[in-house]
Amino acid sequence: MAAVEADVVVAGGGPAGLATAIGACRAGLEVVVLEAQRPPIDKACGEGVMPDGAAALEALGVELPPAAARPFRGVRYIDGAVVAEGSFPGAPGLGIRRTVLHDALRRRAEAAGAKLRWSCRVTGLLRDGFATEAGPVRGRWLVAADGRASSLRPLAGLAGRPAAHRRFGVRRHFEVEPWSDLVEVHWADGCEAYVTPVGERLVGVAILWSGGAGRFDELLARFPALAERLAGAEVASRDRGAGPLAQRCRRVARGRLALVGDAAGYLDAITGEGLALAFREAAAAVEAIAAGDLRRYVAAHRRIVRHPLLVIRMLLLVERLPRLRRRVMTALAAEPGLMSRFLALKLRAGGPRLAGGDGLLRLALATVVGGAR
Ligand SMILES: Cc1cc2nc3c(=O)[nH]c(=O)nc-3n(C[C@H](O)[C@H](O)[C@H](O)COP(=O)(O)OP(=O)(O)OC[C@H]3O[C@@H](n4cnc5c(N)ncnc54)[C@H](O)[C@@H]3O)c2cc1C
Repeated sequence: MAAVEADVVVAGGGPAGLATAIGACRAGLEVVVLEAQRPPIDKACGEGVMPDGAAALEALGVELPPAAARPFRGVRYIDGAVVAEGSFPGAPGLGIRRTVLHDALRRRAEAAGAKLRWSCRVTGLLRDGFATEAGPVRGRWLVAADGRASSLRPLAGLAGRPAAHRRFGVRRHFEVEPWSDLVEVHWADGCEAYVTPVGERLVGVAILWSGGAGRFDELLARFPALAERLAGAEVASRDRGAGPLAQRCRRVARGRLALVGDAAGYLDAITGEGLALAFREAAAAVEAIAAGDLRRYVAAHRRIVRHPLLVIRMLLLVERLPRLRRRVMTALAAEPGLMSRFLALKLRAGGPRLAGGDGLLRLALATVVGGAR
């Protein structure tokens, strides 16, 4: 097959790759996307799109089928008998099956003019393009959006050292009417279960845990109340796993190649923000490409991930230390409004000193004071 020339060639047609393609087409660039799988693509995911991610989808012109996207207004933490819940400060998040989200992104990318090549695995990195089984595909700019386990990141010499702490994830769907308009996070020692309403009679359960191998049923048994609620419900999907979750990246661009989405490094799914971040990174990469300077993307990426990484690290610390976790949960449950403040803080892009920052301070104080009782 003859080489395809384009302004931008994107390796990976998941959410990050398709969002990049849509943005680049809208900036007047010719785009080719090379994706190893066939659509619609499923993936191990909690399937909760945070409010800023939902806004990004709208800004990209992605139309989600209303019946298939379930709004959730906030998050409920459950740790044994302790329950803390809060609402997002503005618009809700969206619970949506990955296949439905992928289909909507694909339709939007096609309408925007992107050339999408399915079953087209990228096998190597060239100076001015990607190698595929069907021959080289050359472009002026290259984007690697090939996910958490990116093979292009090491090929570009951008992979970091392996992370010491290993966490994994697995997800399953249950045919049951959602019992809440909140995403529930059930906490146990070394393990959390995320319950997201994703349909009229469908909930997704994603379990994240530290350590080695794990089976969904064995992990679910660590949450007796949740297991009891789901007992008897029809299983509606094949289990999908992922891990180790943390993947380090030294730098998110080199020459004319940018890494976008999980390929640009991944820490953990504990805040359920991967999609929202991928959309912001995609927009920043397109802006830098349009300006002809990927150093802008490197700087923008640093700004985009700084605050989310801080919150993820904080929560991972809480996850690793059960006594601290119980204190934090007790503090969040005890003071009305504190969980909503924490969610406002989590959604902020500007850093904890801005609105919501007092939530962190109050939480720290309540944890210390509560712990001293
Ligand atoms: C258990 C778990 C739960 C999560 N829960 C949430 C959540 O609730 N909310 C949230 O926002 N995020 C969540 N995330 C994170 C979210 O799933 C990711 O951040 C998101 O999928 C990133 O999109 P991406 O396009 O970068 O990567 P991917 O979705 O992984 O897409 C990468 C694409 O590249 C393709 N590809 C790979 N290699 C090649 C190749 N060589 N050639 C061609 N194509 C290739 C793949 O087939 C794939 O389609 C979760 C993650 C995990 C693991």
